[in-house]
Amino acid sequence: MTKYVFTTGGVVSSVGKGVVCACLGMLLEARGLKIAIMKFDPYINVDPGTMNPFEHGEVFVTDDGAETDLDLGHYQRFTNAVLSRKSNATTGGIYNAVIQKERRGEYLGKTVQVIPHITDEIKSRIRMLTAESEKPIDVAIIEIGGTVGDIEGQPFLEALRQFRLDVGPPNCCFIHVTLVPFIEASHELKTKPTQHSVRALRDIGIQPNIIVCRTGPHVMGEDQRKKVAMFCDVTDDAIINAEDISPLYAIPLNFKKQHLDDTVLRLLNIEAPESDLREWIDMVDRLKSTTQEIRIAAVGKYVNHDDAYKSINEAFVHAGIANNCKVHLQWVDSEQFEKGIEPADMLKEFDGVLVGPGFGTRGIEGKIKAVRYARENKVPYFGICLGMQMAVIELARNCLGLERAHSTEIDPQTPDPVICLLTEQRGIKDMGGTMRLGAYRCDLTPGTKAHKAYGEDTISERHRHRYEFNNAYLDVMTEKAGMVVSGKHPKGDHDLVEIMELRDHPWFCASQFHPEFKSTPLRPQPLFREFVRAALHFRNQRG
Ligand code: GLN
Repeated sequence: MTKYVFTTGGVVSSVGKGVVCACLGMLLEARGLKIAIMKFDPYINVDPGTMNPFEHGEVFVTDDGAETDLDLGHYQRFTNAVLSRKSNATTGGIYNAVIQKERRGEYLGKTVQVIPHITDEIKSRIRMLTAESEKPIDVAIIEIGGTVGDIEGQPFLEALRQFRLDVGPPNCCFIHVTLVPFIEASHELKTKPTQHSVRALRDIGIQPNIIVCRTGPHVMGEDQRKKVAMFCDVTDDAIINAEDISPLYAIPLNFKKQHLDDTVLRLLNIEAPESDLREWIDMVDRLKSTTQEIRIAAVGKYVNHDDAYKSINEAFVHAGIANNCKVHLQWVDSEQFEKGIEPADMLKEFDGVLVGPGFGTRGIEGKIKAVRYARENKVPYFGICLGMQMAVIELARNCLGLERAHSTEIDPQTPDPVICLLTEQRGIKDMGGTMRLGAYRCDLTPGTKAHKAYGEDTISERHRHRYEFNNAYLDVMTEKAGMVVSGKHPKGDHDLVEIMELRDHPWFCASQFHPEFKSTPLRPQPLFREFVRAALHFRNQRG
C-alpha cells in the first residue's frame, strides 16, 4: 500500500523544498523503496511552458513531452522516479480539467465549487500518480509550491487535509520546510516566523510531523531545536537543520546524518533495510576533490537568473565529476559581438564554447560569430538546440557562401532557410504545449564522435523546439561544408537531423535535442562528458 509524504513551505518561497523532496526520495530509494514524486504549483498558468525562464527559471521537459517546473529536474537528478505529465500540476491545469468536465455535463446539474470539485480533482491527481505504476509505489512524495498562507495555495492544502483522512492518518506525513533567519544585530537565529507559519498550517487543519529549518550558513543549537519542537508540537528528532551545503549533492548526506529517512519511515510505519550510500558518497568525494579546472564560455543573452539554465549547469557538474575537473561556466553576452567586440578577444580565455537553447532574435548574430570563432580556431564547441541551429547557419554562410542563410524563426524572408518549420508545425497559433516536445528516438551514425560518446546505436533524448534542420540543404552541407550528420530521427523519407558534427575539427558537436534533461551525477550525459573531456584536452595542449 502506498504511503504519502506531503511537503509544504513556510515563511518565504525558494527555501529549497524541491531539493528536500528530491533528497528524501533518494534516501528512501537507497532503502530499497519504490517512490513516486510530484509537484503542485499554485499559479494559474496551465503549465510553465509559456513562462519566461529568465524570471521563473528553466522549463523542465519529461519523456512524454510535458513542460514542467524546474524542481522536477532535481527529482530527476537525485532519484530514479519516473517523471511524466502526471508529475506536475498547476492551479490552471486543475481548473481547466474541472471546467472541461463541467462543459461535458459530468457534474450532473450541481454547482461546481472549490470544495469539493477542485479539491477532488487535486486528490485524483495524487492518486493518478501512483495508479498505473508498473511496480507498486511504496512512498509518494508530493511537494506543494509556494508558501503556506498564499491565497492560491489554499485549495491544495485543504485537499491534503482531506486526503489524510481518506487514506488514514498513519499513511501520511507532513514535512514543513521553513526559513529560520539569522538576525545580525542580535547575532541569533530566529524561530518565531516558523512558529507563525506552522500556526497558519494548523489553522487549515494540518499538523506538520517534520520541520526542515533552512538556516543559511548557520546551525541551530540544541536549545533552538527544542524550542521549535516544543512550539510546533513535533518530536525533537523531527527537527532537521538544513544549513547551506555545498556541493548540492552532499545535502542528502546531511539529512541522512540527522536520520530524516528513519523519521519518515517511523511516521509511516514502514520497515526497510539500512541503506548503502557508498556509490553516492564516492561521487560526492570525487566532486569535492577534483584537481583540474576548465572554463567554458556560454554565449547567449545576458542571464541574471541562476536557474534559467539549471539543468545545463548541473549537467556540467556531472561531466566534471566524470573528468576529475571543475567546470567554470561563464555567461558571455553575445550582443557585444554585434557591437564591435571581436569574439576572439573575449573567447581566447576559454577552453570551450557553448551555445545553448534560446528563443527570439536578440543576440543571434553574436552567437553565429562565436560559432565561427570556435570552428575556425578548433576550439571545442557544443551546441544545444538553438546552438545546433546557429552552427548550421554559420556553416551555410561561411563555408557555402550563402550569405543570408538563416532560420525562418529569425528571418522569415531568408532566401536560404537552412532551419525552418516542419510541415506539421505550420499553421499552429497556440503557444502553449505546441512545440516538438519530449523523447524521440535517435539513430547514431557509426564512426562519429556522438556514436563513440554514447557507445550505443540508438538513443532517446528530449526535445523542446519548433524549428528543424532543412533537409533540402542536407547534401550540400555534408558534401561541401564538412558537416557530418551523426544522429537522425527516423521518419521514413524525411529523417530529422538530431546531431551534427564537423569532419575537420577536434570536437564540434551540436544536438537539436536537450541532452541536459537526462544527466544525473551518477550517470553523466555522454555529450556533456565528452565536450568537457575535449575542453580539458584543449586546455592541456595549450599549456
Ligand atoms: N527557438 C528555437 C526553436 O524553436 C530553438 C529552441 C530551443 O533552443 N529550445 O526551434
